[in-house]
Amino acid sequence: MRSVRVWARLLGVEKGVVVEGVDYDEDADALVVSVRPRRGSKGLCGRCGLEAPGFDQGRGRRRWRALDLGEVKAYLEADAPRVTCPVHGVVVARVPWARHDTGHTYAFDDTAAWLATHCSKSAVGQLLRVAWRTVGEIITRVVADARAAHDPFDGLRRIGIDEISYKRGHRYLTVVVDHDSGRLVWAAPGRDKATLRRFFDELGETRCAAVRLVSSDEAHWIDKVVKERCPNATRCADPFHVVAWASNALDEVRREVAKATRGPGGKGHAQTLHRARYALWKNPENLTERQQRTLEELLDTHHPLFVAYLLKEQLRLVFRTRGYAGVDLLDQWVDWARESGVPQFRDLAVTITWHRDSIDAALIHGLSNGRVEAVNTKLRLLTRIAFGFRSPDALIALAMLDLGGYCPPLPGRQAA
Ligand SMILES: [Zn+2]
Repeated sequence: MRSVRVWARLLGVEKGVVVEGVDYDEDADALVVSVRPRRGSKGLCGRCGLEAPGFDQGRGRRRWRALDLGEVKAYLEADAPRVTCPVHGVVVARVPWARHDTGHTYAFDDTAAWLATHCSKSAVGQLLRVAWRTVGEIITRVVADARAAHDPFDGLRRIGIDEISYKRGHRYLTVVVDHDSGRLVWAAPGRDKATLRRFFDELGETRCAAVRLVSSDEAHWIDKVVKERCPNATRCADPFHVVAWASNALDEVRREVAKATRGPGGKGHAQTLHRARYALWKNPENLTERQQRTLEELLDTHHPLFVAYLLKEQLRLVFRTRGYAGVDLLDQWVDWARESGVPQFRDLAVTITWHRDSIDAALIHGLSNGRVEAVNTKLRLLTRIAFGFRSPDALIALAMLDLGGYCPPLPGRQAA
């Protein structure tokens, strides 16, 4: 193998690229590989890829960061001539090794995207020697390209619409999840009718008509836009939110009981209740032995709290049962909650009765809680990891890589 081909192979630029020379830049402490597009490949517009006549030499030679080779940083260096595109005017010509208007090669971009979804923030930064902000810019363009390459809305029938807070609860994203694939399909900053209408605009009339089920919380703005845009869709309550109502009610009961036990002699109780916080939140199948004992103590000492706990668990069971059996179970649940003597759950029974149509629809159409819950939990985690990105687009890109199925394979390896 001739050494130029070895270099091309090492850098992952074998197709349409000629390696002209390799040099070591002492000042930059980096390997610099001079390349050019193979002769014969015509000038292409950097933005749209249309053939375009040459314009000038632009701003001379440029460098693109490639993956490190061994211990040293590596760059590709090449001319960056400009062409005249009939659509975009004078632009830098397309190069086969990098995206338009970027300073990193495709292989570098894909590696950054892969690492961002598999490693910690600091690991990505140290390994690639780039700022987290730069990673944000890289993944934004990786995801934009992937979404442009194939229809992200193909075959959407059953979707979930939700809002999620970021920037410590000061900003919101509207997110759309595909119930059938469990994937995140769309997200945008904002939580209002205008934001959601943008999603349905992108979806287009035909695909809107194909949507059969839309699950969401009981927010009025979602309901209104769905009715307006999806003529054939049934609106379902989002099981995740209904169960969250019960968890909140349970937490209120716990706080009330905790307040009542304060004062002389109440210290032991207060500690049990504090410990119980985690036990009450957890699903019973995930409890540790110690947490199980804590719950048993509750059974003995804090009757209303234990009833509240059982009511929350029973409501989860309703959504795991689903179908008409789930509807029957929910009837029984409402009766039980009403007579439970726990005011928070009596109120919840009223709320649930008020939204019975959309909750029953969710049960009958078999929407499961699991997938949406998993996406929600991961999204929350991602909003924290994304802290430090400059724009919400980067947060959305990170979410799409991880939850939308857009993570590229590592360079030189097949997709998993
Ligand atoms: Zn163009």
